[in-house]
Amino acid sequence: MFETVIGLEVHVQLNTKTKLFCSCPTSFNHKQNTNTCPTCLALPGALPVLNQDVLQKAVMLGTALGATVNRTSYFDRKSYFYPDSPTAYQITQFYTPVIQHGTLDIDLEDGVKKTIRVGFAHIEADAGKNIHDGDISKVDLNRAGTPLLEIVSQPDMRSADEAVSYLKKLHSIIRYLDIGDANMQEGSFRVDVNVSIRPKGDEKLYTRVEVKNINSFKFIQKAIEVEVQRQSEAWEDGVYEDEIFQETRLYDQEKNETRSMRGKEEAADYRYFPEPDLLRAVVTDEMMEKYSQIPELPDAKRDRFITEYGMNEYNAGVITANVETAHFFEEMMSEDGVTAKTAISLLTVELPSRLKGEVNLTNSPVDAKKLGFLAKRVDDKTISGKAAKDVLDKLMEGEAEVDAVIDELGLKQVTDTGAIEAMCQEIIDANPEKVEQYQGGKDKLFGFFVGQVMKASKGSANPQAVNEILKAKLG
Ligand code: ZN
Ligand code: MN
Repeated sequence: MFETVIGLEVHVQLNTKTKLFCSCPTSFNHKQNTNTCPTCLALPGALPVLNQDVLQKAVMLGTALGATVNRTSYFDRKSYFYPDSPTAYQITQFYTPVIQHGTLDIDLEDGVKKTIRVGFAHIEADAGKNIHDGDISKVDLNRAGTPLLEIVSQPDMRSADEAVSYLKKLHSIIRYLDIGDANMQEGSFRVDVNVSIRPKGDEKLYTRVEVKNINSFKFIQKAIEVEVQRQSEAWEDGVYEDEIFQETRLYDQEKNETRSMRGKEEAADYRYFPEPDLLRAVVTDEMMEKYSQIPELPDAKRDRFITEYGMNEYNAGVITANVETAHFFEEMMSEDGVTAKTAISLLTVELPSRLKGEVNLTNSPVDAKKLGFLAKRVDDKTISGKAAKDVLDKLMEGEAEVDAVIDELGLKQVTDTGAIEAMCQEIIDANPEKVEQYQGGKDKLFGFFVGQVMKASKGSANPQAVNEILKAKLG
């Protein structure tokens, strides 16, 4: 039997306003080659200057990972030639990265935690983009020089599930820290997977294969599974030495297979050497003090929700998995008198079932304030939980306010016991035979009376009050 060994490299695009070494904007969707200057075009004589905001974000990530932040780090040149890199080298950090020795806890099934070591994270400049258009290829350098943090784990993961769990946690942390968009489709969270196998019990690391070009968690899962299968089969067929070698492979999501892309370079191929045009990067005491004050992270928030609101693990996990949902929930709870139970049901069940297509939590017509107010109206018993669904349907259509919709739909719950008593009496008076049967022992008829009162009130009577009053009256 084989054991899978996985290490992950993630390139996160940082959301600074300007590029890593010049003052060009990093914003998307501009006309090609307009967000450029002599520095990011690598024109002779132009010199790079480090954007200090990048160090700030590195300190934040380092703190989140419990890592060592190197107070002095250096830049190096990684030589490679590719049309989207005008310098013909990449400025990166090879010998002394800004972050080292971090950890990240992942959640396995059955509530078990596992700690994955994050070896290091370094700052580097992104390349531009090649755009292939029929017979011609064009180069857009708007992205050239955008700041990246490359976060490199140790080979500590033993399955595709563990790898995906690590990536989701890292993704969530980046979003909680707000240091990057981490949008996988747009390429601001790019994952390279290093996969190898070994006989169970063997401590040695065998040949690792790098799989690139995977842009969703689902495909990362599949790519690892299919690559592990390829390596295991080669081993079993006795052709491991011939077929598995250190290389970079692409994942083809249509055929669900990995394909050879190029031989993987060794560090020596890149001829790393210290970048002569840049000063060392220094994190001052002041910066360290200021930027290590980071927001509450997903695990801490989940634990707090469990103790503070009596949430179960599952709900706390769902609500804190991404920062948008967590903040939405917290804003709902800031409305006076809202219980977590009502807020959870509206936020995790009712609202998502009404979000369609491009509409999500961030652009939902019903924002956290409004959904919080709707929860309040359930918890102060103005409307029933069931009526809240009708109100939400209406709210999803546009601008209306909660109370106005409740009035418009006539959903206000009758909690006035006098009114409910009168309705109960009416039903009792109208059904003398049923009353006799009930009192003669036909307990099932109780439901009939409740139903009749609810019907008479057009669903607006508080069911709990109806139950209590009928019980008292019928004896
Ligand atoms: Zn520039
Ligand atoms: Mn890199």
